[in-house]
Amino acid sequence: MDSEFIRQPVPIVRNKPVSIGVGEEEREGVFVNGFICQNCGLHFNLFSWKANKHRANNTYCPECGKKGPYIHYRKVLSKDRVRDDNSIDEIFRHVPWPGSQLINDSVIFSSESKK
Ligand SMILES: [Zn+2]
Repeated sequence: MDSEFIRQPVPIVRNKPVSIGVGEEEREGVFVNGFICQNCGLHFNLFSWKANKHRANNTYCPECGKKGPYIHYRKVLSKDRVRDDNSIDEIFRHVPWPGSQLINDSVIFSSESKK
């Protein structure tokens, strides 16, 4: 077993930036994009609140680093423009994957910076 998976994670704690990613007012729903990289064969799912933000020509393969040659699928999980904490279709229901362990390259933002 890789030793990374048995060490106790020591996440980096940083102050939270003013804005992270897509604001709730920009949200179009919940979408999952499935990509199959035609360069290296990796299959990966990418979740987003934007319908068309992630396309074959602007998404880099996390394995080989290339973009462009994909088979690209998309499913609309929700058309709700506001987060529904009771919905099973929200992204936080899918990430982390059930049974995942926190890895020590994680960055966890402190809530102290809102003051
Ligand atoms: Zn690839």
